[in-house]
Amino acid sequence: MRTIGHWIDGEVVEGTSGRRGPVYDPATGEVQAEVAFASVEEVDRAVAVAAEAFWGWRSTSLARRSEVMFNLRELVEANRKEIASIIGQEHGKVLSDALGEVARGLENVEFACGIPNLLKGGYSEQVSTGVDVYQIRQPLGVVAGITPFNFPAMVPMWMFANALACGNTFVLKPSEKDPSTSLFLAELLKQAGLPDGCFNVIQGDRVAVDRILEHPDVAAVSFVGSTPVARYVYETATRNGKRVQALGGAKNHMLVLPDADLDMAADAAVGAAYGSAGERCMAVSVVVAVRSIADELVAKIAERIPSVRVGPASDPEAEMGPLITAEHRDRVAGYVAGAPQEGATVVVDGREGVPEQGFFLRPSLLDHVRPDMRCYRDEIFGPVLSVVRVDSYDEGVRLIKDNPYGNGVALFTRDGGVARAFQFEVNVGMVGINVPIPVPVSYYSFGGWKASLFGDQHMYGPEGIAFYTRSKVVTARWPDPRTSAVDLGFPQTR
Ligand code: NAD
Repeated sequence: MRTIGHWIDGEVVEGTSGRRGPVYDPATGEVQAEVAFASVEEVDRAVAVAAEAFWGWRSTSLARRSEVMFNLRELVEANRKEIASIIGQEHGKVLSDALGEVARGLENVEFACGIPNLLKGGYSEQVSTGVDVYQIRQPLGVVAGITPFNFPAMVPMWMFANALACGNTFVLKPSEKDPSTSLFLAELLKQAGLPDGCFNVIQGDRVAVDRILEHPDVAAVSFVGSTPVARYVYETATRNGKRVQALGGAKNHMLVLPDADLDMAADAAVGAAYGSAGERCMAVSVVVAVRSIADELVAKIAERIPSVRVGPASDPEAEMGPLITAEHRDRVAGYVAGAPQEGATVVVDGREGVPEQGFFLRPSLLDHVRPDMRCYRDEIFGPVLSVVRVDSYDEGVRLIKDNPYGNGVALFTRDGGVARAFQFEVNVGMVGINVPIPVPVSYYSFGGWKASLFGDQHMYGPEGIAFYTRSKVVTARWPDPRTSAVDLGFPQTR
C-alpha cells in the first residue's frame, strides 16, 4: 500500500511514528493509500527547520518574495488540472468544482504578489522638532496552518500565500482525509524558488495538532474546521501565548422574500445547497421562505433536483460527487431518516437511487422544518436542504440572528431598501444580496461571526496581512546641533 509522507526542508519525508490512517477513494469506497501520522518529534523537526529558515527568508527582499509569488501563480495556473485531479481522487469533488477551488485559492497568491504595496507603513514627518515617526510591519516567525478536508488546496492557499509573502515560514497540517494536494503545492512552492525549510507539511491527527498548539517556537496558528475543534484550538493556542484565528462551522440561511425572482432563487438554492455535496462551509443549508411563496419555491427547488447529475470526479459530466467517508455519509443520511419523526416533510429523499459503490448520496429536500429540530440545529455538512417557513421578513431575520452560527447568509429580494436594512442588522460575517455563496474576493477578508470564528482577524486579504505581521513604530531623530538640548520631562510634541 502506498504511504503518503510529510514535506520537511524541501523534500518528501517518510513517517517514522508507525501510526497511519487510511485515505479512501470516496467514489469507490476503497482504501487507496495510507497517510503517515506525525509524532511529536516529527512536528518538532518541521518547526525547527522552519525556525532555521526564518531569518534568511525574512531578510529576503520584498522584490524577491513577490517574484516567488508571481512564479507560484504561473505554476498553479499551469498545473490547475493536475491539482484538480489530485483533489478529485481523494476528496471526490467533481472536476468543475475542483477547478473552481483552485481558481479561488489562486486569487490569494495573486493578492500576495502585491506584498511590497501591502506592507507599506505610515510616516509622519516632524512630529516634534527634528523628530519623525514611522510604522513598519514585520513577520511573526514560524506560523502554522491546520486545515479541513473540504478545500485541500484553497484553504491552505488562503493561509500560506500571505504568511510567506509577509516573510514568515510555515508549517501546514492538512486534513488526514485528503493529504496529497498539500505535498503537490509544496513541490510547486519549491519550483517557484521558495528556499527549503520555509514551507513544511506535517501529516497527522490530534497528536500533531496538539504539538503545534503548544510548541514554543510557533508564533501563530490559523485554523479552519468544525466549531468544536476551532474552539479547542483557539483556547489551547491562546493559552500558550499564540496569536490565533480559528474559523469554525456554519449553518447558512437563505432568506427568500415574496418579491424575489423565484426561479433565480431556486437555481441559487440548488447550486448552493448541493454543490460539492453540501460539504462547503458556505453552503446554503436552510432556505427561509416567507409563507406566501413557500409552496411555489419548494416546488421549483424540487423540480430541479432530479436533473442534478451525481457521479465520480472521473465523470466529466458529473455535477456532484460522493461524501468524504462512509461514516459521514451515514451521519448525513441519518438526518433525512430522522426528519419525519420530528415533524418535517421529506420532499426529496436523497438516499434513493444512489450508486452502489462509494460514499454517494443524492440531494435531499426537507420542508416544514422548525428551529427545534435536529436537522435545523446541527451543521449537517451534506446535500440536505431544509426549508423553514416564516410569516414575515422580521421573523426570518430573527431566526437568522438567533442562530449560533454566523458564517454566511443570503437574501433574495428585488427591494433595495430591505436589502440595505438586512445587511445593516444581520449578525453574520458574509452577506450575499441575491448571491447565494458570498465568499469574498481575495482583496477583502473571509470570516464569520459568532460560533463560526474564534479570534479577532478574519482570514486572507487585508486582515490576513494584519494577522501575519506585527507593527513596530519607530521614533527617530538624527543629529542636528540646532535641535539638541537636555530635557528631563516626558517626551512631548508641543
Ligand atoms: P475538523 O474540525 O474535523 O478537522 C479540521 C482539522 O482539525 C483537520 O486538520 C483535523 O485533522 C484536525 N482535527 C480534527 N479533530 C481534531 C481534534 N479533536 N483535535 C485536534 N485537531 C483535530 O473539520 P473537517 O471535517 O475536516 O472539515 C469540515 C468542517 O470545517 C465543517 O464544520 C465546516 O463548516 C468547516 N469549515 C469551515 C470553514 C470556514 O471558513 N469557516 C471552511 C471550510 C470548512
